[in-house]
Amino acid sequence: MRIHDLSEEANGVSASITFEAVERRDTVWFRGDRVEAGFEPFVAAYFLVAMASGEPRLAVDGAVDPSLTSGLATAGAHARHWWGWRQPPIEAAASAARREEGRAASFFTGGIDSLFTLHRSLRTFADDHPWRPRRALLAYGFDSALGADYGSAKERATFDRIARHFAGYLDRYGIELETLDSNFRSHFDYATFHDHLHGGGLAAFAHASGPGVYRVPSTHDVAALRPFGSHPDLEGNMSSASTRIIHDGHDVERLRKLALLSAWSVDLSVLHVCFDTPGSGLLNCGRCQKCRRTIIEIAAVGLDDVMAVSFPGIDAEEVIATFQPRSPTDIACVKAAATEFHRRGQPRVALERRLRERAAVERRVAEQDWRGPPKRLLRRLGWRRQR
Ligand SMILES: [Zn+2]
Repeated sequence: MRIHDLSEEANGVSASITFEAVERRDTVWFRGDRVEAGFEPFVAAYFLVAMASGEPRLAVDGAVDPSLTSGLATAGAHARHWWGWRQPPIEAAASAARREEGRAASFFTGGIDSLFTLHRSLRTFADDHPWRPRRALLAYGFDSALGADYGSAKERATFDRIARHFAGYLDRYGIELETLDSNFRSHFDYATFHDHLHGGGLAAFAHASGPGVYRVPSTHDVAALRPFGSHPDLEGNMSSASTRIIHDGHDVERLRKLALLSAWSVDLSVLHVCFDTPGSGLLNCGRCQKCRRTIIEIAAVGLDDVMAVSFPGIDAEEVIATFQPRSPTDIACVKAAATEFHRRGQPRVALERRLRERAAVERRVAEQDWRGPPKRLLRRLGWRRQR
């Protein structure tokens, strides 16, 4: 893979990515209020792509901060261990290290994890501390509006609506909202992007946005960490000397984050978790899988006020009675909620049964059940299922 033809645009930077193991060329751009020219964003975004595509090397037509390339060697070792990909050498001249401090930033979607990371940082770092967040970064298409509509005028309008809503909220805390855009995601199907590449994409945005400390709110807590597109061992190893990326918040379980935000009396009216944000009215549809999952979590912690503001008119018991988990993340989140209901002496037995059934399906698909070892052995011996 070659990364070449870096060029500055009006409010962004673009480069070409030419694959060598397959016939393919991507032209990728990153845009934002303060995006700077440099190869680092493209190297961060495409290193795992090069691995997944079996590329023999990642050659850069210019200089890259060697602190990034040495970190990528570690991130790549994790990806190799998890997914069995080969790790190509990075061929790039070493640039001089930048020494600016920059203003600290936090990626922000309005979800529980990003609200927690932001507000914990605000509580931890006083006004004169360089790590106090001054900027919140909202990346187009990375965590919302996942439908076939990607990039449409309607979806852009929804994104702008979300951004305006966030900007007003963040301003009260002295934080500036920066919106970021890239066509990186559009080069991959969403599952590939989400499961393997989106941490690299966030790291790319951090490198594009200049020096500073960048917090990436964790999706999973330590007990639930698994090979996934955003992980402390992936983007957590994609820093450079001037752009430090911190995967944040995996030390605290998700329900505990909600409980802490409530205990800190944080205004949660900005809460936005929806995969299918409506074009007008409330930011959360209340019907999509992520909305329903979050409703169960809020009910488990007993935050009636948050429910009333973010999901008015929704009957949480009806959601609990009909929720069908579909992914490992669904299972992890809702299992914690079911455990919390149990702890409170109000077990949701039918929900617990559905979670166990789905977890068994996930284990079978991942070959982590008792059938896994014989299946893998037969494959190694060259056995193929007859059709
Ligand atoms: Zn929704």
